[in-house]
Amino acid sequence: MPKVLQDGARLVIVSNRVPVPTDRGAQAGGLAVALADGLPPGTMWFGWSGKRSADPAPPTVQAAGGIVYATTDLTPAEYQTYYHGFSNSALYPLLLFRLGLMNFRSEDYEGYRLANARFAALLAPLLRPGDHIWVHDYHLFTLPQELRARGITGPIGFFLHTPFVPPALLAVLPRSAALLRGVCAADVIGFQTTQDRINFMDCAVQMIGAVRRGPDRLSIGGHTLRTIVAPVGIDTEGFANMARTAQNDTATRRLAESLGDRQLVFSVDRLDYTKGLPQRVSAINRLLDRHPGYRRRVNFLQVAAVSRQDVGEYQRLRRDLDRMVGDLNGRHGEPDWTPLRYMTRPVRRATLAGFHRLARVGMVTPLRDGMNLVAKEFVAAQNPEDPGVLLLSAFAGAAETMKTAMIVNPFDPDSVADALDASLRMDQAERVHRHSALLAQVRQDTARNFCTTFLAELAAVPAARPAMLTEALS
Ligand code: ADP
Repeated sequence: MPKVLQDGARLVIVSNRVPVPTDRGAQAGGLAVALADGLPPGTMWFGWSGKRSADPAPPTVQAAGGIVYATTDLTPAEYQTYYHGFSNSALYPLLLFRLGLMNFRSEDYEGYRLANARFAALLAPLLRPGDHIWVHDYHLFTLPQELRARGITGPIGFFLHTPFVPPALLAVLPRSAALLRGVCAADVIGFQTTQDRINFMDCAVQMIGAVRRGPDRLSIGGHTLRTIVAPVGIDTEGFANMARTAQNDTATRRLAESLGDRQLVFSVDRLDYTKGLPQRVSAINRLLDRHPGYRRRVNFLQVAAVSRQDVGEYQRLRRDLDRMVGDLNGRHGEPDWTPLRYMTRPVRRATLAGFHRLARVGMVTPLRDGMNLVAKEFVAAQNPEDPGVLLLSAFAGAAETMKTAMIVNPFDPDSVADALDASLRMDQAERVHRHSALLAQVRQDTARNFCTTFLAELAAVPAARPAMLTEALS
């Protein structure tokens, strides 16, 4: 780990869910993957334990792998309002451009505000002078302001893993000005893509009167903050090694044997409405309708980890998908060929790496995504001499840099079917050419570089704070 903190400084990560290594319930997700490889030893990670209790005790502190994890339970009311309500049923759909799914209730927002305040109250006494605080994601927009209100004047960074919407969309969400004011108490605010950063700056200027100070700085109430673009990444070499080794794994060998000489099109996602799974099934239907030559010559495998099953929208998605997969296999299947294999059971990361490497096409077609690490994992897992083709949604953050992927509009099943056909027919020279550019990119934008870039920005924040900061922002 290169030196990225100021002398004697400790890094403190704050996120909604803390992926404590001993916690078997902690699910794989972009945040854990993005930070796993990039944290300096001694880092403290604060947030929710994943458990609920009526009267949460003081934070539980435990050390593992050089990181100190400090976690608190949520109360049932916080779970309902802060987590399930405002974060996942209002903010998340809005930030992913799904206005129609946004469900706002003022009591949920109040729960969100209070949970952020409680997190700040628990965290403040654990902080030491000189700590660098790095807050993650949309659950905690108001935490920077709550920390300032408790006298924390050190550097605070905030990184948003989801996209950020333009003003016309953000204005639809009640209390969005309060969210903007809350996060603007940070010193550095990071985004996955240039477009997200532009959207955020436009919102801050138009909705809370922030003033532009050059291309990347904003000032508000005497406080100046910097916005940056820092795409999240993966441990590219680690994942490539895992994929190479997994070739000898039982699960990968069994998949390879079951395919025979058929080509594999592979997808893996959380079972989430932003991932475009129904649209993907439609595109596969179109391909098989229009190109019957692919019968028995190709197999699709979709691994979809069940997520947020206590949210109605996710239960509906699961039911819809079960039906659509059944329809597709019923319509196109043959006694000795099932076109689309579909699993919602958990699959080990190493096994996924092996599946990626077997695939001729990686189909990554979210309707909207902050970055999408699966796209990067697919590229890392390939054999560079005979790589598969990445079919990537134009609306994943990854598309801003992964330009030699086959870029598609996931809302248009015909064009996705055409791109699938072109990918399956692509000759080796073109596959190698496209993949080598993608691999260079994925090797550059690693998890480690993401952390290093962000922490370097945080380390550059002047230590002396204007005394007025706290009042100005409240
Ligand atoms: P998100 O953060 O929205 O879930 P990303 O694609 O950015 O999406 O990151 C997801 C991470 O979780 C990747 O590292 C991916 O390999 C992992 N993952 C996704 N789906 C599964 C699954 N079904 N089983 C195991 N890991 C998964």
